Amino acid sequence: MEQQLQAILKNQFNKTLETAEKSEIYQALMLFTKHKMQDMPKNTGERKLYYVSAEFLIGKLLSNNLINLGLFDEAKELLNHYGYDLTEIEDEELEPSLGNGGLGRLAACFLDSIATLNLCGDGAGLNYHDGLFYQKFYDKKQSEQKNPWITEKSWLTDTGLRFKVPFADFELEAIMYDIDVPGYNGTCNKLHLFDVATVDENIIHDGINFDKTDIKHNLTLFLYPDDSDEAGRLLRVYQQYFLVSSTAQLILQDTKQRGYDIKDLSKHVVIQINDTHPTMIIPELIRLMTAQGISIDDAIEQVSKTCAYTNHTILAEALEKWPMSFMRKAVPQLVPIIEELDRRVKEKTSDTRTWILDNEDRVHMAHIDIHYGYSVNGVAALHTEILKSSELKPFYDLYPEKFNNKTNGITFRRWLLHCNNELASYIESLIGSEFKKDATKLEKLLEYKDNQQVLDKLCEIKKNNKTKLADFLMHTQNINIDTNSIFDIQIKRLHEYKRQQMNALYAVYKYLDIKSGNIPKRPITMIFGAKAAPAYTIAKDIIHFILCLSELIKNDNYVNKYLNIVMVENYNVTKAAKLIPACDISEQISLASKEASGTGNMKFMLNGALTLGTRDGANVEIAELVGDENIYSFGKSSDEVIKLYDEHSYSSAAIYESDEKIAELVDFIVDKKLIRIGDPVCLGRLYKEIVGKDWFMTLLDLKEYIEVKEKMLADYEDRNTWAKKSLINIAKAGFFSSDRTIEEYNNDIWHL
Ligand SMILES: *Cc1c(COP(=O)(O)O)cnc(C)c1O
Repeated sequence: MEQQLQAILKNQFNKTLETAEKSEIYQALMLFTKHKMQDMPKNTGERKLYYVSAEFLIGKLLSNNLINLGLFDEAKELLNHYGYDLTEIEDEELEPSLGNGGLGRLAACFLDSIATLNLCGDGAGLNYHDGLFYQKFYDKKQSEQKNPWITEKSWLTDTGLRFKVPFADFELEAIMYDIDVPGYNGTCNKLHLFDVATVDENIIHDGINFDKTDIKHNLTLFLYPDDSDEAGRLLRVYQQYFLVSSTAQLILQDTKQRGYDIKDLSKHVVIQINDTHPTMIIPELIRLMTAQGISIDDAIEQVSKTCAYTNHTILAEALEKWPMSFMRKAVPQLVPIIEELDRRVKEKTSDTRTWILDNEDRVHMAHIDIHYGYSVNGVAALHTEILKSSELKPFYDLYPEKFNNKTNGITFRRWLLHCNNELASYIESLIGSEFKKDATKLEKLLEYKDNQQVLDKLCEIKKNNKTKLADFLMHTQNINIDTNSIFDIQIKRLHEYKRQQMNALYAVYKYLDIKSGNIPKRPITMIFGAKAAPAYTIAKDIIHFILCLSELIKNDNYVNKYLNIVMVENYNVTKAAKLIPACDISEQISLASKEASGTGNMKFMLNGALTLGTRDGANVEIAELVGDENIYSFGKSSDEVIKLYDEHSYSSAAIYESDEKIAELVDFIVDKKLIRIGDPVCLGRLYKEIVGKDWFMTLLDLKEYIEVKEKMLADYEDRNTWAKKSLINIAKAGFFSSDRTIEEYNNDIWHL
C-alpha cells in the first residue's frame, strides 16, 4: 500500500507521503481504493437484480470501502506513521446527499449487503449534483443552500455508456456513471447513476432556487426539489421517467450482452422497485419490448414476472398519484400503455379502489406496481399487517400470494465497525470475529451480562464516544456539552408524525420543572438533528420552536446547569455516525402505525442506546427481541390510533381543555419569553396547529411520554442495571443486520 500511495502522490501531485496536504492524501487513498475495487471479482449469474431507487443515501465512502476491502487497519497505521489521522483525512471527503432519509439509506445498506453476500445485483439511480440541500440555521430558522459534492476526482467513473431519453418535445442524453460497491470480503457490484449531459449548475440562484421549467438544464440538479407548485411536480415526473427509461434501456442491453433473449426477461432479470418513484419502469419496459417486436401480452407477462415493489409508507400524502395531464405533457408515449394496463384491471375487477386511473384522471402509481408486479412487501411486521388489513386490503383480497414482509436492516460494517470502532474491537476481544459475517453471533455477549468488568468497560466506551462527540460539536458548531450528562437523541427527518414537537414539549416540561426547584440528579443533553422539506411550513416552525428553546435555556444561568438543548445543523450520514455511538436514550416516538419501520432505531440499539419508543414500526420487533424490561415503551397502540382516525374521534382541543398541565406546556409555545426571542408568526402558527388540529396526535401520548422519560432518567443512575440493559440490546441487534434482510429478499423474492 505504501509504495502504491507514494506512486499515486508522485504521479498526481508530485508529492510524497511526507509532503502531501490532507486533501491530496485523501485523493490518493481514493484513487488507490478505486484501483483495488477494479481488481475485485465481479458477480456473474443467470439472474441479475437491479435495485432501482430515486435515492441512495450512501454517505462518505473512503473508510467503508477500506473496511470492506480489509485494508482499513493497514491504511490507518500507515497514515499514523506519517503523522496523519485517518479521521482527519475523511473530513476531506464530501458527503453526497442523494437521499432524504431512511428510504435512501436503506437502499445504500442493501447494496452493501448484496455485494457482501456475493449476489449479482446493481443499483440504479440519479446523479443529483446538489443532492437534497445543505441545511443552515439563520435567525433560529432553517435556510437551504445547495450542496455540491462532485469534485474533479471522485468515486464516479464515466462508463462511456449513453442512452437517449425521449420526452414530448425534446430528447435528453443520459450519461451513465458508476460507483463501485465492494462487499465485505465479498465481490464488487455497481451503483449506476444517470446524469444529463446538458445539466447546468449556473442556473441555481439565491440558495436552491432555479427555473423549474428548464428541464434540459435542471433535471439532475436536486433531489425532489420543492414540489409545492405544479412546475416542481412536473419536474419530478421528468426525473422519474429519465431514471426509469435509462435503467430500462440498460437492463435490456445488458441482458442481451449476457447472451439472453429479452423474451425470457423474467428468467434473467429481477427489478426491485424502491417505493413508487421508479414505477414508470413497468410501462417503459413494456413500451421498449413491444418496440422490439414482442407482443403486448408477452411483454406485460414478462414485465409482471420481473418487477417487485417495496412499500415504505401509509401516509396518504406520500402515495404518488400523477395527473394524466402531466403524462400527456411530459411522456405521451406512456399514455396508451398506462391506459391499456388500466383497461385490463377494469376488466378483471369492478373494485374502483384498485383501478389505476381514477375518476379525476390521475394515475395511482402504487396500483401499477401491485397489479403488474409479482411481489409487494412492507418493511416491518406491523407495517405489513397494516397494509394487508387496511391500507392495501382490496389488493390483498385480490392477490394474497403477492404480499410479504421484509423487516428492514442496516449494514453493521458502517453502523458498528466504522462508526464505533472501539466498541467493535472490544466485542471482538470478547466473542471473536464471527459476528462480522454472522451478526446473530452477537448473542454470545449475553454470557457477559453480569460481568462487572465488561459492564464497566461498556460504560467507559460510551463515555469516550461522548467525549468525541463533544469535541466534534465544539469544533463544528461551537457548542459546549457536558460529557457527564445523559445524552438523549432524536435524529431523523422532521415530520409531524415523528413527533419532534412532542419531545420539544418535554423540554418545556423539564425547563418549567427545574425552574420550580426540581433539580435533576444529573444534567440532561437533548440533541435534535433534522432537515425539513423546504415547503413544509409546520415542520420548519417546529425547528424554530426547538432553536428558540435552545437559546432560552442556554441564556438561563440557573436552568442551563441541568438542561441543554442542541440542534445539530445539516443532519446527514456523517453526523449520524458521530451521534449514535454517544447516545444513551434513543427517541423513537412516532405516532403508532405511522413509522413503517425506522432504521435509526436499529443503529442506536446496536450501539448500546436504550430505546424510548412507541409500539410502532420495527420498535415492536426490538421490544420482542430484548423483552419489555430492556426497552421503554409507551403510548397508544396502532389499533387504537387507527380506530381514532376511522371514527374521527381524536380532539387535541379536548385534551388541551381538560388537562391543565398539558395546556401549560402548549401555551409556552407562545409565552412572552419565547416570543421575545423568536418569530411570533411561526410560533403562533405551531400553537394553533397543535391546539386546533394536531393531525398526528402529539397530545395523545404526551403525558405518558413524560412519565416514562422521567422513569428512564431515574433508572440511568443505577449504572450497572443500565449497562446490562445496554449489553442485552447490543447482543440482540443481530436480527437487524441488512445481511439478514437481503437473505430474505433473495430467498423469497429474487431467487438469484
Ligand atoms: C438512518 C438514517 C435515517 C433514518 O432514520 P429514522 O430514524 O429511521 O427515520 C435518516 N437519515 C440518516 C442520515 C440516517 O443515517
